[in-house]
Amino acid sequence: MTFLTMILFSIVALYIRTKPSVTLIGLAVIGVLGSWWSDWSVLTIISALIVFGIAAVLVWPNPLRRNISGSILGWVRNQLPTLSDTESQALKSGDVDWDGELFSGKPNWNNLLKEKRFQLTAEEQAFIDGPVNQLCSMLDDWKITKEDYDLPKPVWEFIRNNGFFGMVVDKKYGGKGFSAAAHSETVMKISTRSVTAAVTVMVPNSLGPAELLQHYGTQAQKDHYLPRLASGAEIPCFALTSAMAGSDAGAIPDEGVVCKGQWNNQEVIGLRVTWNKRYITLAPIATLIGLAIKVVDPDGLLSVDINRGITCVMIPADTEGVHQGARHLPMNQVFMNGPTWGNDVFIPMDYIIGGEQMIGNGWIMLMECLSVGRAISLPALATGAGKHCSLTTGAYAAIRTQFGRSIADFEGVQEALEPIAGYTYMMDSARRMTAAMLDRGIKPTIPSALLKFRNTDLMREVVNDAMDVVAGRAVISGPRNFLARVYQSLPISITVEGANILTRSLMVFGQGAVRCHPFLIQEIEAASAEPSDEVYAKFDKAFFGHLAHALSNVTRSFVLALSFGLLTRAPGDSGPKQHYRQLSRYSASFAMMTDISLALVGGELKAKQRLSGSMADSLVGLYFASASLKRFNDEGCPDYLLPLVDWSVQKCLYDIQMALDDSIRNFPVAWIRPLLRVLVFPLGLRTSAPNHVLGTEVAQLITRAGHARDTLTQGVYINNRPDDAVGRVLNAFKLNTAAYELSKKLHLAVRNSDEADGIKHLELQLEDHRALLLDWAKKNGVLSTQEIQQLDTAMAAVYDALQVDAFEPEAFEATQRSGLSEAVVEQQPPVANVS
Ligand SMILES: Cc1cc2nc3c(=O)[nH]c(=O)nc-3n(C[C@H](O)[C@H](O)[C@H](O)COP(=O)(O)OP(=O)(O)OC[C@H]3O[C@@H](n4cnc5c(N)ncnc54)[C@H](O)[C@@H]3O)c2cc1C
Repeated sequence: MTFLTMILFSIVALYIRTKPSVTLIGLAVIGVLGSWWSDWSVLTIISALIVFGIAAVLVWPNPLRRNISGSILGWVRNQLPTLSDTESQALKSGDVDWDGELFSGKPNWNNLLKEKRFQLTAEEQAFIDGPVNQLCSMLDDWKITKEDYDLPKPVWEFIRNNGFFGMVVDKKYGGKGFSAAAHSETVMKISTRSVTAAVTVMVPNSLGPAELLQHYGTQAQKDHYLPRLASGAEIPCFALTSAMAGSDAGAIPDEGVVCKGQWNNQEVIGLRVTWNKRYITLAPIATLIGLAIKVVDPDGLLSVDINRGITCVMIPADTEGVHQGARHLPMNQVFMNGPTWGNDVFIPMDYIIGGEQMIGNGWIMLMECLSVGRAISLPALATGAGKHCSLTTGAYAAIRTQFGRSIADFEGVQEALEPIAGYTYMMDSARRMTAAMLDRGIKPTIPSALLKFRNTDLMREVVNDAMDVVAGRAVISGPRNFLARVYQSLPISITVEGANILTRSLMVFGQGAVRCHPFLIQEIEAASAEPSDEVYAKFDKAFFGHLAHALSNVTRSFVLALSFGLLTRAPGDSGPKQHYRQLSRYSASFAMMTDISLALVGGELKAKQRLSGSMADSLVGLYFASASLKRFNDEGCPDYLLPLVDWSVQKCLYDIQMALDDSIRNFPVAWIRPLLRVLVFPLGLRTSAPNHVLGTEVAQLITRAGHARDTLTQGVYINNRPDDAVGRVLNAFKLNTAAYELSKKLHLAVRNSDEADGIKHLELQLEDHRALLLDWAKKNGVLSTQEIQQLDTAMAAVYDALQVDAFEPEAFEATQRSGLSEAVVEQQPPVANVS
């Protein structure tokens, strides 16, 4: 009995995470009471004392325990992944927030729910409702991409004059000083109108000279450049990528050699810079080129030893020797993008962002700023695509009839519509939660990486599904097409700001496991420091804390899996409680798997990218489900959003289960797989994906007018003009919805009437058929004159919305004449290698 009580007590203590010392004292009390009650033998008492003694040595710091942890320290040094300079700098950059809670295995939901919600100020909302809407109304994406290959001049002027380039610049420098929420909302809305315009606006506000100067610039640099950047007098770009170094940006060969040179008729110390960059957004027209280079000082001209890491400089484009102007055409999107190069271009030290003392600190500067921009731009653009697809594809599915029924009624089509709506809710929720995090001053390194890769991946799924639903109408290019342009742009978002494969399989879990772990950073720091008493003490504390944490997660994973999460507490009045419980359960399993991966795979984790990728998927599921619940709670748990939040969380839970299952089945250390299976899935894989009933409900939220459709698609730019690609479909949807009862009445009358034999085969949407049908309806008093007019107008709009473009041969000849076939630029920049 005593033994069983002790086991039960230990499980409860580990589960609720009492202090190890308290647990041990509790066990001792149970032992003493047990020995007294049941008259233990001397041998039992001695054995119990020995076990207690060993436990006491491990629980309270003492020289013996120090010796144990000291030996483990040596082992840890070998187990730790070897980190490059850039990786170790990246690990230290940014902050840990909700991602840390998920890694802890015991997320505190109340903390999440009480955090600041996504919100715009009145001034920001006015900007979205005013200049942003106006800009959108000026954009005709077909004309921009097929005829002009550029944004029209008035659009460029409007963007500059209305401060679109200065959204992140502080108000005191003339910028807008907008919150991340406003920045995200702006990019999202513009992207629903034109990807080219959205990218043009988002790049100067993302990773670039403005953001870098604001955080790291000298006062003189800030005073000079920030007002010019905010007003659009300077167009910036930032060039990191070079031909031989894409994802491995730390390997750029571009160099700046410290040397003496002439500047303003004086001899000064500066840099002779050689670079050859490609894919650089805005480079063809930039007036201020931000560059990442490596600095060398072969002649020892600087007074201090320099760190040979990356350095960020900015070079005015009119500096002698700067090459720019040639353009790439990324997936036929026409935002300005192209190469830039220069050979031995002399610049003064003032051109180093932050001045001479920031030489070699570029990587950490980029990582910190990247985490901010990356959390905003592409997640917003991806959400914009999701909203756009929900709005247009839902409407199109409702008005398109085949086999005598709206295609929205076919289960097969609903299966494709379901993720369009569900994923859009997830993307939007995660975008909002992360933007609100930024507005609390957090630099979310891991959330920004996972948000970027997951939102752009989901965007790809959503747009592909939308293409399938809209089918031929989506495939035929032309001014009527409302999907093809965003479809074409998908691979760009997947590739930029950290290509998705690399981000998922290397960065998110690889960095997160270390960065967000409650003890690992302290262990790593101790393991990489010079040995000293202080270091040993620090490691000892972290290691034994880690051990208790790991044991607790093992216990929680098993107990919560067995109890279906019912033992955890869900926050009160916060919506569907079972979702919180299931997420707590999977968070514990995820945290346990993290510890076991670190302990058994250790330094090899970097190479085990498939394990890392599956674990990243689990984290993504936890993060996106949390975001969906947070948003639902922030919005007051309205009933009409319940299907969306249920779908999102169930889908995430199912994905987490499958990702953990994949990690266990393929765990690199085979002998532990059965144990992991018992600890994570003692009752087997029991989490189901959203069922068909819920799926249909979610699909119908976007094919029917209502609060859910309005909330889901909030923030899309809507032009109601019937000659607009989107306006045409929305107009038809609206009129069709309003005339639905009338068309039903007519169909019923036709079906029930013997006299209607001659018109039974007629299609209401076809112009000539419609006239006959409506005539019949009038003659037979089925519909009033006013009703006939309403139905006629609605059906004409539907007919028009179903049409695609066709071009006369002359149009193709004109295109061939002005096409790019003869204007392809063969770029031959010098090979950058000056060291
Ligand atoms: C339209 C466009 C705009 C851009 N704008 C800018 C800009 O303004 N400034 C700028 O500096 N750069 C810019 N880029 C560059 C962009 O950031 C790079 O394209 C990106 O970093 C990937 O480099 P890469 O294309 O050379 O792919 P590669 O590095 O060749 O990668 C190829 C594939 O291998 C994967 N991969 C690479 N290494 C690993 C690894 N260790 N583990 C697992 N997978 C790996 C990648 O995920 C990718 O799928 C832009 C690119 C494009 C296309």
